[in-house]
Amino acid sequence: MAASRTIVVAGGGIGGLTLALALAQRGFRVAILEQAAQLEEIGAGIQLSPNATRVLTDLGLAGRLRGHAVSPQAVRVVRAHNAKEITRIPLADAERRFGAPYWVLRRGDLQSALVGAVREHPDIALELGARVETFATHANGVTVKAMRGRTSVDAQGIAFVGADGLWSTVRGGLGDAAAPRFARRVAWRALVPAEMAPPAMREPVVTLWLGPNGHIVHYPVQAGAAINVVAIAKDNWNEPGWSTASTPGEVLARFAAGAWSRHVRDLIGVAAHWTKWALAERAVARRWGHEQMTLIGDAAHPMLPFLAQGAAMAIEDAAVLALRLAASPDDPAVAMRKYEADRRDRTAKVQRAARKTGQIYHYRGADAAVRDFVMRKLGGARLRNRYDWIYSWRADPDSAVPSANK
Ligand code: FAD
Repeated sequence: MAASRTIVVAGGGIGGLTLALALAQRGFRVAILEQAAQLEEIGAGIQLSPNATRVLTDLGLAGRLRGHAVSPQAVRVVRAHNAKEITRIPLADAERRFGAPYWVLRRGDLQSALVGAVREHPDIALELGARVETFATHANGVTVKAMRGRTSVDAQGIAFVGADGLWSTVRGGLGDAAAPRFARRVAWRALVPAEMAPPAMREPVVTLWLGPNGHIVHYPVQAGAAINVVAIAKDNWNEPGWSTASTPGEVLARFAAGAWSRHVRDLIGVAAHWTKWALAERAVARRWGHEQMTLIGDAAHPMLPFLAQGAAMAIEDAAVLALRLAASPDDPAVAMRKYEADRRDRTAKVQRAARKTGQIYHYRGADAAVRDFVMRKLGGARLRNRYDWIYSWRADPDSAVPSANK
């Protein structure tokens, strides 16, 4: 692939794949180096709010996604011990209100849509099994060295982007070696075939159970064929990775009878295959890059999942970085500093809001009673309005400019 207008991207996760499509849409060539030999379908769900689906729609992905996604009509907030509804946050009018849908879907379906579009694009090369290790800038751009087993795989480009997630190697190579902090919370995740779940749990609704020191979220995915369940509780287990196996027994032990209703415990019990993930975060980096190198997504600003915004922020990053690079294709360093300035405050604000939301979700005793009272008093519509600043986001259309010279 010619280096003259190629951008090299480390990481083929949600951020890296979206960035590749956004760059190619604006006339760049992209070389993605992904360490995994196979992009495995991770069997869990993801919520995509309108700020993210707007970007994916603009990339022409709606047709590939719509058939798999469910548009939830509401977020139903319920009390863990007695299953009583605290409030119902309306989402039925999300598409009219925000100009883009709110979708919940299986991560594997999102990944397949992104990979399918990437593979079909003649200007994107996806190298699997290539782990980025070092990189250096020089007069002609950037050279990135990756290893496939013992074989070295080099890529050249005019710029380099680290989209390599929470434990980013690129971030370290750019001089920020601080490790993510374990949040002393673990997320357990499972998919339940819809026919095994009670009918009320198959409704197109995101259900949020709030209990002492933990919460559970479930929603239908795969066009309603399965229910995604995420259960988050305080825990000291702390190992990296997405897919450490767990068991229903291990999950039920954290969501004990008495504090957690039989209805949600039954759902946990029928899910045979659980995986777990230790939650971690780190402060949004002050400096994301230098010269013609930068970071996107979790590599730059990992956040706790309590607002379901980590992937959405990676998708927003991709849209803004592509706009900025297209505006200054001959000076990627300038484009990248502008991109970082565009993104730093918003991602830090969402990160703080996610952390605060987690604290509120996991209240116990009197604090929990006050929270439930306030939520009921405010009502669903006003609670929903509190997220307008997140969901109504758009990549600045004024900065949309000509494609890079082919
Ligand atoms: P990743 O998805 O981590 O991708 C990084 C990629 O880089 C991986 O493919 C990895 O193999 C590759 N890589 C790593 N190192 C190298 C290297 N040296 N060389 C080459 N390749 C490398 N977000 C939402 O928006 N909505 C949700 O509902 C939601 N729910 C969540 C629930 C849980 C329990 C958790 C933990 C997170 C959730 N998130 C959610 C957050 C979301 O999953 C992440 O923010 C998102 O995956 C980040 O995307 P990314 O592309 O930056 O990183």
